[in-house]
Amino acid sequence: MNSEILHARLKENFGFEKFRPNQENIINTILSGQDTLAIMPTGGGKSICFQLPALVLPGITIVISPLIALMKDQVDSLKTNGISACYINSSQSSEEQQFYIDNLKSNTFKLVYIAPESLSYLDIVFNELTISLIAIDEAHCISSWGHDFRPAYTNLGYLKNRFPSTPILALTATADKATRTDITKQLNLKNSKTFIASFDRKNLSLEVRPALDRVKQIIDFVENKPNESGIIYCLSRKTTEELAEKLKKSGITAKAYHAGLDNKIRAKTQDEFINDDCQVVCATIAFGMGIDKSNVRWVIHYNLPKNIEGYYQEIGRAGRDGLPAETVLFESYADVIQLQKFASEGLNSDVQLAKLDRMKQYADALSCRRKILLSYFGELVTENCGNCDICKNPPTFFDGTILAQKALSAITRLQESEPLAVIVDFLRGSKNAYIYEKKYQELKTYGIGADISWYDWNQYLIQLINLGYCEIAFHQHNKILLTPFAKKVLFEGEKVKLTTVVKKVIDKNEIKETKTKTVKNSLFETLRKLRYEIAQKDEIPAYVIFSDAALRQMETLRPISDEEFLAIDGVGKAKLEKYGSEFINTIIEFQKNKKTNTKPKKESNTYKATLELFQNGASVEEIAETRNLGISTIISHLAKLYLDGIDIDTSQFISDKEVEQLQKAKIELENPNALKPYFEHFEEKMGYEKIRFGLAVLEKNNQ
Ligand code: ADP
Ligand code: ZN
Repeated sequence: MNSEILHARLKENFGFEKFRPNQENIINTILSGQDTLAIMPTGGGKSICFQLPALVLPGITIVISPLIALMKDQVDSLKTNGISACYINSSQSSEEQQFYIDNLKSNTFKLVYIAPESLSYLDIVFNELTISLIAIDEAHCISSWGHDFRPAYTNLGYLKNRFPSTPILALTATADKATRTDITKQLNLKNSKTFIASFDRKNLSLEVRPALDRVKQIIDFVENKPNESGIIYCLSRKTTEELAEKLKKSGITAKAYHAGLDNKIRAKTQDEFINDDCQVVCATIAFGMGIDKSNVRWVIHYNLPKNIEGYYQEIGRAGRDGLPAETVLFESYADVIQLQKFASEGLNSDVQLAKLDRMKQYADALSCRRKILLSYFGELVTENCGNCDICKNPPTFFDGTILAQKALSAITRLQESEPLAVIVDFLRGSKNAYIYEKKYQELKTYGIGADISWYDWNQYLIQLINLGYCEIAFHQHNKILLTPFAKKVLFEGEKVKLTTVVKKVIDKNEIKETKTKTVKNSLFETLRKLRYEIAQKDEIPAYVIFSDAALRQMETLRPISDEEFLAIDGVGKAKLEKYGSEFINTIIEFQKNKKTNTKPKKESNTYKATLELFQNGASVEEIAETRNLGISTIISHLAKLYLDGIDIDTSQFISDKEVEQLQKAKIELENPNALKPYFEHFEEKMGYEKIRFGLAVLEKNNQ
């Protein structure tokens, strides 16, 4: 179909200006009647791929989804966009279900969401419908190769035989090759076309920290982010409860969520989280599958995940709105031990252990983490990402031969019979009961490493394990054994390179700075409140009304006419009609109050004026001239608009290479507040405009 028509639909019905990668190609393939397999990461924008064709095609689109809780959200979201849709599942009474079935027959709906279990009894209704498209969400559930097999999905293969000429769109975020092939086979797709979007989610920052003092680290982290929703994944139910309790004691609204809790409690927690009433959910992996909340600003893994697929899906729940989001993984050896035990006792133990190993390698990585993740999903990336902890703080190596010799000989002295913690105590000359009981204080080399902290010794020993000089005997009380390579260090003069331990210390100034960023009386907060009130009244999640990204744009652009409001990303025709006047009035009111409270300024629409000229093709110089403002002011306007998600091509201001140089300078100069240090750093060869814009590019990618 004509690209202009599709774009017009995208804006009118969903409020978006541009398609995300692959969306348009997928839609065109479906519209040509071909079966399609779409593989996109969580948050990649799968829904539009069937929702838009559903509007264009004549009949009804059936969406099969295993996630009952998500159906309501998706249908609510479609309704706020003025699209008629419904769902039929076991959460409804039989009268309700019948009501929708009757309405299906009278062609009231463009989309119907159905759980796979309900298909067989709805089959008879299908005879009376014109079905134009069948979308199968979470399609990997059909494959026993995948990590989330659902028996009810196995029957879906009949659909192609039953509706041979109706295109089927299978969607999943699982990229594993075996699963992919299996999906097409099991669904009997004919000559299907496969689209694989990049799994790179640039707006997610990646960080791994050692799991010491986890709770304190988490409290510091959350306190630094008032009002920002986040999820903390834990391995056990007990941890979710204990952690939620500890966070609550620190004044954070946090709740536990796991499969052992009563359904009602779980549903309530999920609702509160979705509606921004509960800031933090401490959950086992059961949480998150069924929610679409786009403004989850961070995800923490309290424990090491079992595999990279799961980890990536979980962190993918952050930042679906495309704004920067943070992810932190805590790595502890105790977790590795426990996970190895689970994996070796479970089904398919070899595969599971190998997957765990990859996960551990990721956590222990000394090079760009995103490269490792993406290569796991079969994507080769040559550039470092600049948005992971390794890129931001590249490890520095030093000659650790003597340290290694001390540690390895301590293990020898202790006859390879003690776990890591005892070795550290021994090295540091600790005077604890266990050491004395074993008379370790009498052994040679006791206390030989007293000058190094407990924390650092732990990290060095872990590095030695990762380098292969020693290993953990998981089945023998986790004692540390030497490997044959240890000999080389102890007796053959082999040199060992270790990396400096960087302890993540929370900088109190940093906290203060970001805290002031969430200005209480900002327009953003005012609009957020309005959004919350409407959400409560209409009983829909706040983010279904507008995403955080849309509110940010409203704050900058201050739209006060319908036309201006429609220019905000995420505002389509229906949302303009439904919410336009309330939001516009709030913006006008806010401006008025601001003017009476502060000295009158001609500020508010200055961004808008710049943007308008820019979008009409004026150059920066021309805008500056027309508006009688400095070039640097115009550049800073454009940088701000860009940060708020307005589509501005940055390459016309600064090249990728220059951004990279700037990033290095930023680290070297320790992130100065002003532009001048950069200007001087580049010996006045990089102009202020470039620097200003380049910093915006870095900030947008959370770098
Ligand atoms: P997925 O199902 O792949 O996890 P969704 O379909 O839920 O992702 O989309 C994720 C988010 O991205 C949603 O908030 C959606 O509104 C937004 N989105 C989807 N397509 C676009 C687009 N073309 N432009 C801007 N935002 C989009
Ligand atoms: Zn990186």
